[in-house]
Amino acid sequence: ENAKILISACLLGQPVRYDGGARPALHPALDRWREQGRLVVVCPELAAGFGVPRPPAEIAEGQSGPAVLAGTARVIEAGGGDVSAPYVAGAEAALALARAHGCAFAILTDGSPSCGSAFIYDGSFGGRRHAGMGVTAALLRAHGVEVFAESGIDALVVRLGA
Ligand code: SF4
Repeated sequence: ENAKILISACLLGQPVRYDGGARPALHPALDRWREQGRLVVVCPELAAGFGVPRPPAEIAEGQSGPAVLAGTARVIEAGGGDVSAPYVAGAEAALALARAHGCAFAILTDGSPSCGSAFIYDGSFGGRRHAGMGVTAALLRAHGVEVFAESGIDALVVRLGA
């Protein structure tokens, strides 16, 4: 199977995180999939027009990505600004890219208000995490894309049988 896989840019070492850092995931499967031309790279927040660095953002009040998409929760910057609309726009850009390339799978950086898929932070900017997902992971999942965190690369290898 040569399924294409959407992947967070920072997992491939691109320094696109809010603080100018990356989150390189070192896994032999990533090297193999890259050589096979199967990785489709995206940073939803850059796609939404944010720069590097940018203020940290979290989903407010312990909510999760689906609630942001439903309009019942907000993404806020550390200064309190509401950035829900651009976060949703970034998610839509990621979905459009996934569709354009036929990606049925994604590997996204956990913890991010965009890319988180197993845990996110609670909106207090106090380092408190909880089970939940970011806006991009929520939108992809709502459209049938199977989203894995970087901790789930082994599981995706099994899922793909390759
Ligand atoms: Fe990485 Fe996703 Fe954050 Fe971009 S939005 S820096 S790809 S975690």
